[in-house]
Amino acid sequence: MTVITRFAPSPTGRLHMGHAFSAICAHDHARARGGRFLLRIEDIDGTRSRPEHVATIVDDLRWLGLAWDGEVVFQSARLDRYAAALARLRAMGLLYRCYCTRAEIAGALSAPHGAVPVYPGTCRGAPTRDAPHCWRLDIAAAVARAGDLSWTDHGRVVANAALAQGDVVLARKDAPASYHLAVTVDDAAQGVTDVVRGRDLFTATHVHRVLQALLELPVPRWWHHDLLTGADGERLAKRHGAPTLAAMRAAGEDGLAVAARLRAGVGEALPFDDGRPSFAS
Ligand code: GLU
Ligand code: ZN
Repeated sequence: MTVITRFAPSPTGRLHMGHAFSAICAHDHARARGGRFLLRIEDIDGTRSRPEHVATIVDDLRWLGLAWDGEVVFQSARLDRYAAALARLRAMGLLYRCYCTRAEIAGALSAPHGAVPVYPGTCRGAPTRDAPHCWRLDIAAAVARAGDLSWTDHGRVVANAALAQGDVVLARKDAPASYHLAVTVDDAAQGVTDVVRGRDLFTATHVHRVLQALLELPVPRWWHHDLLTGADGERLAKRHGAPTLAAMRAAGEDGLAVAARLRAGVGEALPFDDGRPSFAS
């Protein structure tokens, strides 16, 4: 089996060190196995995605010394695939229209601080009306249909806990697909065998696993790597003013040295087959 990984950034802003680390993990995981490393631009959000960010991402990866195989895949060019998957799930009776506004959803959410907010299912079973709506997956029905599921993360088996995310959105009011649907369809279409990405996406994987079962897609392995934190222990992604790769590049920093520093943080855990790596900040 050829190992295939991918880096799948959304071109809605500049990349920072956390992205660089994720890209390096995915890249090295494939290269250490003689595999392929793909670049996919997740630009289904037409209002927030910007072509100039795509160009910057390409420059950032080159600066880090990361080369990808084949053509860059753009999700915005694949909307028909997501629509077909959506239609299939609809035909299975697993989707419903949600008419809630952002404000209504925010008001209904009472998740404890830090937990993933779960949509309370307000529109499940509501009569169809002529109004803007998104499509939600009835996760309880989906899980009932898909049966018992598990998946492996870094060699460990994780049981299905899809309910933790609730009735996720699969197609938005303003976009024909959501992250969950597009990523599931594309990882399968691109033959991704090992999904290497940050731990912040761990709970999303429960949903992806259910979608794979429903759409009869092959099941990859996952490695949710730890998130890079600053010296203060806070996640880089959440810090204001974390330097972007573009700024580091513009300041004349050596990208290969930056990549080497990040790799040193992965340390002894390479090539990632057991034990989780720990990172220097
Ligand atoms: N596009 C997602 C992001 O930028 C990552 C998708 C993935 O790795 O599954 O956070
Ligand atoms: Zn609703």
